[in-house]
Amino acid sequence: MQRLVEKRHAYAIDGDVAFHVPSFAEYGKLSRRDLDSQIAGARVEEDRRKRDPRDFFLWKAAKPGEPSWESPWGAGRPGWHIECSAMSVKYLGEGFDIHAGGSDLIFPHHENEIAQSEAASGKAFARVWMHNGMMNVARGDGEDEEKMAKSLGNVVGLREMLDRVGGPALRYLYIAAHYRSDLLYSEGSVEQARGALDRLQIGRQTIDRLMGKTTKTGGSDLAELEEARRVAKEEFHDAMDDDFSTPRALAALHGLVGAVNRLGAEASASFAPSEEGRTRLSAARDTLVGLAGVLGLGLEEASIPRGLTTDLIQLLVELRQKAREAGQYEIADEVRSRLAGLGIVLEDRQDETTWRLR
Ligand SMILES: [Zn+2]
Repeated sequence: MQRLVEKRHAYAIDGDVAFHVPSFAEYGKLSRRDLDSQIAGARVEEDRRKRDPRDFFLWKAAKPGEPSWESPWGAGRPGWHIECSAMSVKYLGEGFDIHAGGSDLIFPHHENEIAQSEAASGKAFARVWMHNGMMNVARGDGEDEEKMAKSLGNVVGLREMLDRVGGPALRYLYIAAHYRSDLLYSEGSVEQARGALDRLQIGRQTIDRLMGKTTKTGGSDLAELEEARRVAKEEFHDAMDDDFSTPRALAALHGLVGAVNRLGAEASASFAPSEEGRTRLSAARDTLVGLAGVLGLGLEEASIPRGLTTDLIQLLVELRQKAREAGQYEIADEVRSRLAGLGIVLEDRQDETTWRLR
């Protein structure tokens, strides 16, 4: 504050200190507000003693009974904006890389931080600004969205969300929207996030299943899968290089899973990958698991329940198939429901039954 007063960017009035906005020519460069909306935004705290309606207080003189600190201008307390500049300059230096914050703080808070910091130091304050959107809530399906705010009594704490939604699905929900966009927390959006995460997980399991097919002579070389993998990887990198566009990055992963699913659905009982096909399946799995991991989504190999092995499960699936062919549907249904009880889901396709872990 002393430096700003010395450089005539700030002035003292009756124990207060105000920043003089017209003294900083670049004011408005972050929020790109024009002069009129800068003034309109400042009206709330209009004070006739200010030289310009946009001037803001760096220091306020103490009112009786308020906590206060001594200063060259008498007892008082710092204004909100100056606290942030003082803290970031103390811990990060006069210029630093990334300043983050909610989009509701761009004006006037961050604009004022830039003005007072750069006017004092003569150096660029933050090189990159990352502003996140707001979280909205819908109380029920089809209900209107509203901002999550203490004043509306609709705040859900992170701990409660973790309990209700679980870590992985919550993480998916957060990155399903671009960080600069608003985010909706509702039963529906949580369900969607869960379903989408499941689809990625199942994609990985499908690759595992296809790799488990024993190689016969010839076999498929899966050139289309390799092309889908290449496209997904390129798309993912492109998206993340574009201001961390996580929705596009996730779409790229789902594109790859789509190709895997088509392959899984078309693969007949006699399907087997060639040696090259296996290499490509393995590469597709590495790409899917690796890129999902970049986003913090762990697509782990699903663990088979204790006491079971893939061979045993396959045996049960084949015996159930024999029972169906013999018209013993009750037995077939019982095998299906008992396996479901163990967390193994059977999917009947045209000429084959496949299984996956739930
Ligand atoms: Zn701040």
